[in-house]
Amino acid sequence: MEYICESCGTLLIHSNEVTLDSMKDVHNQLCSVKRQNIVTPVPQVTQRPAPSAQPSVSTTPQAQTALNSPSPQQSTATPSSGDQTTISLTGSGTSYSKVEGPIDPEFKSKRQVKGMYQGIKIWGPVDPPGQLGIWGTEVTVDFDICVADGACIEACPVNVFEWLDTPSHPASEKKPFMIREKDCIFCMACENVCPPQCVKIFQKSQ
Ligand code: SF4
Ligand code: SF4
Repeated sequence: MEYICESCGTLLIHSNEVTLDSMKDVHNQLCSVKRQNIVTPVPQVTQRPAPSAQPSVSTTPQAQTALNSPSPQQSTATPSSGDQTTISLTGSGTSYSKVEGPIDPEFKSKRQVKGMYQGIKIWGPVDPPGQLGIWGTEVTVDFDICVADGACIEACPVNVFEWLDTPSHPASEKKPFMIREKDCIFCMACENVCPPQCVKIFQKSQ
């Protein structure tokens, strides 16, 4: 009995049919022509469109305006001049003692404005926290003399003052801050009740 490979033409001969079948199986597994004819399928590579580098953005005028406008949280409030603060209440000025009154009524011609605190002028010398100078323009208080008994705050009929913490100051660790100085009606009450006489009221023309 015989078998001829249809791929390479090899002739296989054997008298036993079972043995010939085994020979055919071995040959078919080893036949180089058959193996070359087996075409390995090439995997298909699907090319996806490249993702856009920029997210899709609506270009309607309304949408563009919204994108360019800051959100309410992003908006930055411009501080008004009344909030201006250039003097710190802390620093290295710790070697000062309590100053005796009264306030110098001529201080405006002797001292210079060294800074502002929430819109209120501060006349030097200033060296916080031990030396704080004289505060105010019309309602003026020498903070280096003030002992914080609160008489001026109680006397003021229009609530010009509020307490300001001044830690580590040798005379007192809080002061009557004339935050509503513009409301002063020049009644002179605060100046008259101050025990160490550290308050001086100036009319607007002074
Ligand atoms: S003068 Fe009168 S109104 Fe003005 S701060 Fe002193 S107490 Fe207040
Ligand atoms: S009355 Fe004079 S000492 Fe008393 S808190 Fe006012 S400024 Fe200071």
